[in-house]
Amino acid sequence: MQTYNSLTPEFIAKLQTIVGAEHVRMDAETLDRYKTDEETDERCFHLPDAVVDPANAEEIAAIMKLSNEYLIPVTVRGGGSGIVDGSIANCGGIVLLMERLNKIIELNSEGMYLIAQAGVRTIDIQKLANENGFLYAGDPCSAESCQIGGNLATNAGGNKAVRYGVTRNQVYAVQIVTPMGDIVDLGAPLKKCSTGYCMEQLIIGSEGTLGIITQVTLRLQPLPPCRLDMLAVFTDPLAAISVVPKVAKAGINPTSIEYMDNPNVRTTSQFLDFPGAPHKEDGIYVIFTIEAFNEDELDMKMEQLNDICEECGAIDVLEADDRIWAMRRNCLESVRLVSLVCTTDDVVVPVDEMGPMLQYIIKTVAKYPFPLRINAHIGDGNLHIVLCKMDLSDEEWEEQLGKFTREVYTYVYAHGGRLSGEHGIGSKKAGFMEEFTPRGELALMKKIKLAWDPNLILNPGKVFDI
Ligand SMILES: Cc1cc2nc3c(=O)[nH]c(=O)nc-3n(C[C@H](O)[C@H](O)[C@H](O)COP(=O)(O)OP(=O)(O)OC[C@H]3O[C@@H](n4cnc5c(N)ncnc54)[C@H](O)[C@@H]3O)c2cc1C
Repeated sequence: MQTYNSLTPEFIAKLQTIVGAEHVRMDAETLDRYKTDEETDERCFHLPDAVVDPANAEEIAAIMKLSNEYLIPVTVRGGGSGIVDGSIANCGGIVLLMERLNKIIELNSEGMYLIAQAGVRTIDIQKLANENGFLYAGDPCSAESCQIGGNLATNAGGNKAVRYGVTRNQVYAVQIVTPMGDIVDLGAPLKKCSTGYCMEQLIIGSEGTLGIITQVTLRLQPLPPCRLDMLAVFTDPLAAISVVPKVAKAGINPTSIEYMDNPNVRTTSQFLDFPGAPHKEDGIYVIFTIEAFNEDELDMKMEQLNDICEECGAIDVLEADDRIWAMRRNCLESVRLVSLVCTTDDVVVPVDEMGPMLQYIIKTVAKYPFPLRINAHIGDGNLHIVLCKMDLSDEEWEEQLGKFTREVYTYVYAHGGRLSGEHGIGSKKAGFMEEFTPRGELALMKKIKLAWDPNLILNPGKVFDI
């Protein structure tokens, strides 16, 4: 790994000149606040040397130039809702906050796009789009706490990906500050474009290793006026998963197909104080959202869905209310009722491999000393495997978790899958990225990183090590 310099009084003085002294914080309380993101394992925490909150792209560009000159690492932090240690400054240096870049610049109704600064919360983009009769289709469960720039950096998925795709499908253009400190605009609000490399797509999902996203131009969809949430309850996980291909082939095109296993149903109903959650004793939930442009279409889709779920063995199919979605959105938060330290994995496999994958995981975890819970974006082949440390010692947890994870990843890659469907690699999975990524692909990624960031200043240790 690259070696870096410590912050000197001269460097700090120059930093203060760029952003103003009050926007460079080095007090113990602030440094402590930014030692982690959603990571709960203290061994992964790392104190930055300074926390800086710039006002605009020009200040960020000046910070990057200065950091290159003094060889100081910079780690970007959006909403800090990431779960792969992406915004932890594991090499020290500066944590760069995006929260002052928080303006929505334009909603263009005719062109159906929205321009926002990267630090705007995702939920505020969703709300503004809705108020204007549009849908912004990016919808991670963390929408209230994450930022749109963080969503692009991780290529966030979420609850509407099955119909609308993931974050990269919602983006027309980005503005970035390169690691060397240049401000560059990539992409444009065009329906089609065959004009050289698609650079904005390279930035999306690069987890802050290739540039700091400062502004985004997002695609808007017409907001379907009719919408219905349905809950199908199963007792057999494979039966629950078997609805996915049937729904796809029937052309229902649901907005969401979400899965919660029974431990998740129980804990979220307790966490949200919802004792009347349907079939909470033994139910596995599959939550659907369907949308349509008229009531007849909605009714037809509802009947089709109902029939498919019953055919697949659902014990109950109900119209759902917001509480079911609150349960789904709180799967991760509520796990802390069971264990303060837990880990969430996010493997993705081809949709037709979901059933065998789930079976494999349930069988494999039986050899290990930790309880498992699974929630999944099953329409996308994306499984969140949540493991709880409970009262295992640190050593036992690390050893057993490492073994389990390696077994699962080996299976995933043998069946055409990848390490992450939406959370990214961060520093948490960087070692596994080295181990599992095909050599040629990894070598190309490293060449791109070195070409963009020769001093390895920006987000060092994320995605892979050089
Ligand atoms: C309760 C909960 C539910 C979640 N549900 C989902 C879900 O449904 N789908 C999903 O995909 N994820 C989900 N996540 C994970 C997380 O919310 C996403 O990864 C989100 O996109 C992170 O955004 P953030 O602004 O919080 O970024 P951060 O956590 O601050 O950062 C994440 C990474 O992006 C980089 N980054 C952040 N901002 C920028 C920027 N402006 N420019 C360049 N790099 C940047 C950081 O350096 C880091 O590497 C969930 C997390 C929680 C805690």
